[in-house]
Amino acid sequence: MSRALKLQKSRWPEWVAALQRTAAVIAPVRLHGEDVAFERITSPSEITLDFDNTADPPKRFLFPQVEPLLRYRRNGGYAVEPVYDEEPRVFFAIRCCDVSAVRFFDFTLGAQDLPDSYYTARRAGTALIALACHEPCQSCFCVCADTGPFLPPGGGYDIQLTDLGGEHYLAEVDTDKGEALVAAAAELFAPASDDDLAQRRALEEASEKRFPSEPRLYFAASSRKVSLDTAEAELWQRMARWCVACGGCTHICPTCYCFNVTDAQRNGDGLRSRRWDSCQYAGLTREASGHNPRPEQSDRVKRRVFHKISYQYVARDGMQGCVGCGRCTRICPGLRLGLPEVGEAIRRAEWK
Ligand code: SF4
Ligand code: SF4
Repeated sequence: MSRALKLQKSRWPEWVAALQRTAAVIAPVRLHGEDVAFERITSPSEITLDFDNTADPPKRFLFPQVEPLLRYRRNGGYAVEPVYDEEPRVFFAIRCCDVSAVRFFDFTLGAQDLPDSYYTARRAGTALIALACHEPCQSCFCVCADTGPFLPPGGGYDIQLTDLGGEHYLAEVDTDKGEALVAAAAELFAPASDDDLAQRRALEEASEKRFPSEPRLYFAASSRKVSLDTAEAELWQRMARWCVACGGCTHICPTCYCFNVTDAQRNGDGLRSRRWDSCQYAGLTREASGHNPRPEQSDRVKRRVFHKISYQYVARDGMQGCVGCGRCTRICPGLRLGLPEVGEAIRRAEWK
């Protein structure tokens, strides 16, 4: 399914207001200090569409940093009550790399053989309205990851908006959920013309040409070396000297999903929650005996990169775990251990 409509630019707030009648709308909002972040909005006037990408991904609205899983109560045995969040929500103006990250979550947490019921419950009620990118943002390399700047049909969005440059957005509707989003304010949409579609293709080509030569992640070379474990141990050790194990790269990453589970109890009644964890923390793999299969930071840096680009994970998950958003480069305190920087070191077998 895919059909193309257009929407007058001046009327998207009416559409968002119509969506708010039945769903929470999560959209980019400019914060104090000029960062743009996804927030649950109360009015369309809070939304900004003048942004490259948000400082952090919208991951926390699908996979919260702290998430209640179940309540339990002592009643002779234990009465257990799972806590599911099935509230309908619409992500509005989510960039293509972050749409691709949700697709990655669908392959992993949503995998049919072992679904994470908390994720799938929340995801079932979630719709994605993408906003294609005309300009590369600082440190992104989505063109290498095949996750942007525009997405093809089947790329994970329900609707993809493209600013056609004049008075309209093109709205590519790709799913039944997308059709329902249009139906919320059908009077705002009109069929797109062949000229509109030609304009969209031209904009995509122009956008791809604007991407600078750096940063780049040469997936073929770096993935091969990581998958075959042919990068020297010393290289990992030299890179790991720059890692202070802050966990920033994993927390900011739209595809990282390590978590820990904790119980809060009072008089035997309790709440079980999960919260984000990080493969960059020594404690993630430390066993009850005290043994840690990843005792050195170099083991942990290697582990993160392996999960992002190894063929083994591509074969299992259907896509690589890096969508090229570039956030890990920006967050790393030494600005040294973003995926493109590490991938380039692996490819060249040298760390400067
Ligand atoms: S590894 Fe880095 S560039 Fe890749 S998706 Fe995660 S934060 Fe973005
Ligand atoms: S952001 Fe940089 S320093 Fe922090 S854990 Fe990640 S690689 Fe290490």
